[in-house]
Amino acid sequence: MPELPEVEALAAYLRERAVGRTVERFEVSSFSALKTYDPAPSAVAGLPITDAGRHGKFLDVSLGPDLHLIVHLARAGWLHYRDAFKSPAPLKPGSGPIAVRVRLDDGSGFDLTEAGTQKSLAAYLVRDPAQVPGVARLGPDALAVGRDEFAERIRSRKGQIKGVLTDQEVLAGIGNAYSDEILHVAKMSPFALTSKMTEDQITILYEATRQVETDAVARSVGQKAAELKGEKRAGMRVHARTGLPCPVCGDTVREVSFADKSLQYCPTCQTGGKPLADRRLSKLIR
Ligand SMILES: [Zn+2]
Repeated sequence: MPELPEVEALAAYLRERAVGRTVERFEVSSFSALKTYDPAPSAVAGLPITDAGRHGKFLDVSLGPDLHLIVHLARAGWLHYRDAFKSPAPLKPGSGPIAVRVRLDDGSGFDLTEAGTQKSLAAYLVRDPAQVPGVARLGPDALAVGRDEFAERIRSRKGQIKGVLTDQEVLAGIGNAYSDEILHVAKMSPFALTSKMTEDQITILYEATRQVETDAVARSVGQKAAELKGEKRAGMRVHARTGLPCPVCGDTVREVSFADKSLQYCPTCQTGGKPLADRRLSKLIR
């Protein structure tokens, strides 16, 4: 799933490539992906793209003076920028992985695509980003908070740090992948309880969050949109590296299920050498 750094990179790419261009056509191929019906997609034609940014993991493309295309890419969604489209014909409904196509006046544009059968990419045309429920609920951006606000946000939720860090209402932008990286840099167990964290541990976690997210933004921005996904994987220390050696200590990276996903961690660096119990599995055995 694209997280803060990838969405930031997509926004930066759009600011460079698309801002100043005018929308020629806004085509919707997957009507389940577009969550709003007013204003209609046809209202976008003729509007200039005036800015691009993000709210947590939501991409925000500003259209004209007061319209926003807000996109949540979900697990398998992506934005593909095209210098030109092969055919001028409008998309047919249900055309494979393409959910939305935005054609611009210079012949370029972008597709919002989603791989796989589980379709959860969500696009919204709204006058105010806060009209999108997921945006309205967001906590402050993970890269916008200082140490004390970070501490206050983390302590506002009792639970395992892995779940609290990825809760978008606590801090916006951190997902499954970069939270694994942050906890590895902080040398912290993903199952550590926020209620038992010391002030020093919070400070270490804050610094790890800034380091991991700013490094990832720096790596991602400036890359071509098409290359971003590969770069995310290549820069990882433990995430999606089950069975590979930890780059810090050489121990084997392990995996354990967490909520409906899995997380990766290094036992030597993070849990005093002890493997974490797979709760889902032990529930089944009992
Ligand atoms: Zn290690």
